[in-house]
Amino acid sequence: KYGDLDRVYSINVNYSNIDDINYVVIWNNIVIEKRLRHFIRQYTDVRNFEQFLNLQRNAKYRKNQIDWYITFEYLKEKEGALVTSLWTSKRRRKKMQKLIEEIPTIEHCKKSLFDLFKDWKCPRCEKKKETFNHVWRCKSQKKMMMLIIKNSFEFLFKEISDLNCYEIKKEEFLKFFQEKTYCILSEDTDNLTFIDVIKGLFPLDITKFLIDIKINKDHRMALSVSFLEYVYDETFKIWEDRCEVEIKKEKAFRINRAKKMSTK
Ligand SMILES: [Zn+2]
Repeated sequence: KYGDLDRVYSINVNYSNIDDINYVVIWNNIVIEKRLRHFIRQYTDVRNFEQFLNLQRNAKYRKNQIDWYITFEYLKEKEGALVTSLWTSKRRRKKMQKLIEEIPTIEHCKKSLFDLFKDWKCPRCEKKKETFNHVWRCKSQKKMMMLIIKNSFEFLFKEISDLNCYEIKKEEFLKFFQEKTYCILSEDTDNLTFIDVIKGLFPLDITKFLIDIKINKDHRMALSVSFLEYVYDETFKIWEDRCEVEIKKEKAFRINRAKKMSTK
């Protein structure tokens, strides 16, 4: 029936019987035993992860100072085995965007809309180029960001003390984080900074500390992920406010979607 190799045949699949069909999926001559959906996702995740680590700017992440397990738990979002709700997938996408520094900053927009944005600076200070790092380091946000950093570590402490099973003094706990590079909003090619934490990278140094002060594994993992979620939510407000300013500015300059499309 399907003998003509030059012809394209369509196949009608009766989906109600699909569970009864026996098939073996092979990839590079390896039989894929995992459930296919998980395999495909894992495969693309691993490939993306490799590319991500190999980026020049990410060299410092190859130096074993990140607790990848916590970072992946945070990126994954709590999703059921089969249902990915719209909300979790949107949040997951936003987390990934931050991780790869692909939020639509002015400098990012210049890549595709150079003519439109070539002279544009950060919409909040109007002085510096708006790069990914500048979004968090803009002078206009300094007070806010300092507060977020302080609150994040206090949040971590509160999460531990709310468990009511650890005797830890707040001052001693917070003292540990003094002078850590990952508590500072700097740009650094060798050390982790708070900007890396904003991207969802969890410093291994914190994990070691939590183990040292005898936080059990389940608690440690849950509160480490909550810490990253907290930083995500707080810094998301910074980005949202920035976008409001930018939208107003674009309106004032009569830049709208149609204009953007026509300059592309
Ligand atoms: Zn600025």
